[in-house]
Amino acid sequence: MKTSSTKNKAPLKEYRKKRNFDVTGEPQGTRSGAKSAGALLYVIQKHQASHLHYDFRLEWRGVLLSWAVPKGPSLDPSVKRLATPVEDHPLEYGGFEGVIPEGEYGGGTVMLWDRGAWTPEDPDVDAALEKGELKFTLAGKKLRGSWVLVRTKLVQTKLGYGGSKKPQWLLIKHRDRYASPDDVLVDQPRSVLTKRTLAEIARAQHGDAAKAAKGDPVKAAEG
Ligand code: MN
Repeated sequence: MKTSSTKNKAPLKEYRKKRNFDVTGEPQGTRSGAKSAGALLYVIQKHQASHLHYDFRLEWRGVLLSWAVPKGPSLDPSVKRLATPVEDHPLEYGGFEGVIPEGEYGGGTVMLWDRGAWTPEDPDVDAALEKGELKFTLAGKKLRGSWVLVRTKLVQTKLGYGGSKKPQWLLIKHRDRYASPDDVLVDQPRSVLTKRTLAEIARAQHGDAAKAAKGDPVKAAEG
């Protein structure tokens, strides 16, 4: 199956439909389809919404392909992290850090947790996505080296009449010199852009700091 960005002529339609831009400060994506110069953008946003998750995004064909990773990435190659595909996001979203008002879609606090460039290991990214096995190299501040996103069996969900089947993916670190048993989520919990914790980001925009703080490791809150 194709991803939404390769089959959809209006790739950001779903993104815009979910959001009220009179209320949220998230980018509308007016530069949709913009060609980037050179390297492809990679970004992870730590998002304390109703549940904490890490939004993993890879630039492809003018948008950010996006997966929500509830437990966040692991540097340990023996650990597979569930990654649920979500709607494509505009490239400008890769610069967003701040508060989404409560009651809005994704209401809560967003931190730019890591950012850099990615390189596909096979240049035919569309074929890799269709096949359900995308191998790539990350050059971020926190995540580096070789990784894979692999599609698993269709998982029955409770959504819709009679249930629908939704593809799930796994994010896995490949064995290389960047692999490690250390927990990068605990060791490097702060914003790659502003060095702030989730609670500090929330406080600065009069968001729910107590809720945001639930996503910060105890160590970060103290340090
Ligand atoms: Mn999110």
